[in-house]
Amino acid sequence: MEIESMVANSALIKAREGGRSKGRSWKWREMLRFPHISQCVDLAMSIERDYHSLCVTQPIGKKLFQLFCRSRPDVQNYMSLLDALDIFDTKSDDERREFGISIIQRFLTSQSNQCVPTLLSHEQRSIQRLELDPCGDIFHDCREDLHKHLSGEAFTLYQESMFFDRFLQWKMLEREPISKNKFRQYRLLGKGGFGEVWACQVRATGMMYACKKLEKTHVKKRRGEAMALNEKKILEGLVSRFVVNLAYAYETKHALCMVLTMMSGGDLKYHIYNIGVPGLDRDRVCFYAAEVCCGLMHLHQKSILYRDLKPENILLDDNGHIRISDLGLAVKLSEGSLVRGRVGTLGYMAPEVIGHDHYGMSADWWGLGCLIYEMTSGQPPFRARGENPGSSEMERRIQTKQEEYSVKFSREAKELCSSLLTKDPRQRLGCQGSKGRKVQSHPFFQNINFRMLEAGLVKPPFTPDPRQVYCSDVQDIEEFSTVKGVSLDRTDDDFYAKFNTGSIPITWQNEIIETGCFKELNVFGAVGTRSLDLDW
Ligand code: ADP
Ligand code: MG
Ligand code: MG
Repeated sequence: MEIESMVANSALIKAREGGRSKGRSWKWREMLRFPHISQCVDLAMSIERDYHSLCVTQPIGKKLFQLFCRSRPDVQNYMSLLDALDIFDTKSDDERREFGISIIQRFLTSQSNQCVPTLLSHEQRSIQRLELDPCGDIFHDCREDLHKHLSGEAFTLYQESMFFDRFLQWKMLEREPISKNKFRQYRLLGKGGFGEVWACQVRATGMMYACKKLEKTHVKKRRGEAMALNEKKILEGLVSRFVVNLAYAYETKHALCMVLTMMSGGDLKYHIYNIGVPGLDRDRVCFYAAEVCCGLMHLHQKSILYRDLKPENILLDDNGHIRISDLGLAVKLSEGSLVRGRVGTLGYMAPEVIGHDHYGMSADWWGLGCLIYEMTSGQPPFRARGENPGSSEMERRIQTKQEEYSVKFSREAKELCSSLLTKDPRQRLGCQGSKGRKVQSHPFFQNINFRMLEAGLVKPPFTPDPRQVYCSDVQDIEEFSTVKGVSLDRTDDDFYAKFNTGSIPITWQNEIIETGCFKELNVFGAVGTRSLDLDW
C-alpha cells in the first residue's frame, strides 16, 4: 500500500474512534447554541401542530414531550406505560409473555396504583392476545388509544410549556443552512456516475457520514437533473434501518451533496470476492439476504421499486448490518401501476425488464435471487468467472437459460434461488398476494426471527474489523474526469434550490441524540423557572 493511502486510512480510522472529544470541534457548544426564544416566533406560527409528527415521529420532539409528561402527575403513568411498550418490543420471544403480563398488571389493572384509567378496557383483550401468540402486536390498539389520550389536553398544554419552546429552539438549529464548512472531510471512499463519495464528519457533533457529491457540470452535461432530484426525494422520505438514510442535502459552488449514513464495512462485492475464496458462508448469506428482504419490503410498502440490486450496492456498517444504497434508479410507482424501461445493471436485470415489458416489484425479487445466488456460489447466476459475454448473449441467458446449482447450495438455498429466479414474474416468489411475507417464510430463513431482525436486535454473524478500511486504496480509485464546454447559468438555480434543502429532520435529530449532544445541551434551569438561555 502506498504511503498516501496509509495516511488517508489512519486519519479516517482515528476519526471513527473519536477519542476524548468524541470527534467534536472544541467550538461545538457555540455551534449548537440555542437561538433566543424570541427568534422562534415565526417558526411557532408556521410549524404544523400535528401530534404524531411533533410527539411521536421526530426523535427530539418525542424526547421533549416525554419530559413534559413526566413533569405532570396526571399523565406520568401514560408516559411510563409508553416506555414499557417500547421496551416490550425489544424483548426476545420467550421473555414476551412474562413482560407483557407485568405491563398489564402494572398499568391496565384497576387495583394497581400506576393504573392508566382510560385504558382499562384493554386489560382482558391484551391477556387474551398474549395467551394466543406473545409474538403478535399485542398492545397495538392500546398504544393507539394511549396516543389518542395524550394528543388531547396533554398535547395542548405541552405547546404552552417550556419544553415546546425548547423544541422550537432545536428546530431552529436543525433548519440552519448547510454548507461544506459544517464538515471535516476524510478519505475518498468511492466513485459514482456523477462524482465522488467521501468520508466526512460533522464538526459540531462528531458524527461520521459519507458525502456523495454530484458534480454540477457532469449532471448538466448528462441531463441528470431529474435523476439526482429523484434520488434525493426518495431518500428523504425514507426511514429504515435497512436503507441508507439521508442526513443533509446541500450545494457547493461545484457540486450537489448528499450526506448519507456512513457504511464503514465495505460493500458485499468486496466481501464476496476480495477476502479468500469467492462467496460467503451460509450464516452470512442468510443474514444479509434476510436484511435485504426487509429493506425491499420497506421500499415496496412505500410503492418504491429499487431496480438496482447487486452486491456492490449492499453496504455493511461497523456492526455488520447491511443497508441498501444507491437509489438513483429507484422509482415511486403510483398505486398498483407498472413501469417500463430497461434500467439496472445488465447481469442483474429481470427477464421482464430486458423484454421491454411493463413490470412492478417483481424485478426486485429477481434481484434478490441473483444476490443470494452470487453470495452463495461466488459468481453471478448467468456469467462464469472471468467470462465476459456480450450483451445479447447475456440477454439470451437471462431469458431462457436455466441457472446451475453447485454443491455449495443447500437444498433450501437452491429452492429459494430458483423460486426467485423464476422467469415468469407472475409465478415468481414474492410476487403473489402475500408478497415479501412469503419470501420471509421460506424454509431457507427458518432460523431468522424477522420480528427481532426488524427491531435491529439480531447480532450479525460477522463484525467488520474497526481498524480496517474496507475499500480500494485511494490511488486505485480512478480520478474523476472534468467536463469541458458546459457552463452553469441562472436557469440551473431552480433545480439547485430544490436540491439544497439542508438537514433532514429525523436523521438530524437522531444524530443529535446518538452523539450525546442532546443530553449535554438540553438542560433547563431550576424547576418551575425558565432557564437562563430561555431568558424570560
Ligand atoms: P452512483 O449512484 O454514482 O453509482 P453510489 O451511490 O453507488 O454512486 O456511490 C459510489 C461508491 O461510493 C459506492 O460504490 C461505494 O463504494 C461508495 N459509497 C456510496 N455510499 C456510501 C456510504 N453510505 N458509505 C460508504 N461508502 C459509500
Ligand atoms: Mg453505484
Ligand atoms: Mg446510482
